[in-house]
Amino acid sequence: MLCYCHSCSALNRVPFEKVKEKTPLCGKCQGQIQLHDFVQEVPTEAFDKILRNSNDYILVDFWASWCGPCQQYGPTFQMVSKEFGDRVQFLKVNTETEVELASRLGIRGIPNTVLIKDSKIVDSISGALNYDQLRQWLSSKFKIIS
Ligand SMILES: [Zn+2]
Repeated sequence: MLCYCHSCSALNRVPFEKVKEKTPLCGKCQGQIQLHDFVQEVPTEAFDKILRNSNDYILVDFWASWCGPCQQYGPTFQMVSKEFGDRVQFLKVNTETEVELASRLGIRGIPNTVLIKDSKIVDSISGALNYDQLRQWLSSKFKIIS
């Protein structure tokens, strides 16, 4: 998976199994990669970099700190990353700081979960899903498109 370094902005390609064992360090500056299970919070610059460099599916949680349902949804998103992290790159984008990115992707309400492949939006779903709903939604995408 691609791991973004918040210290030096480098993008590290780290095998999922390695990430599973231990939170990786950045190959460039040795800084600790910031991961919550397999979820990374990214600024726009990193989002664009990951899109350009990833062949995997990318699942993005668009959220904001003032949004109650987003707070609720965060742990669910994280939990599902443990199951799909080997196939899907899990990202979180803060719509308060990454305003331009959210509008570029047409995000109107939050939380909004967007599935991307080859820089294109495959599908999106809004609202704070529970664990089973998110799992099922994601699994159904794989049956159809993989
Ligand atoms: Zn670094």
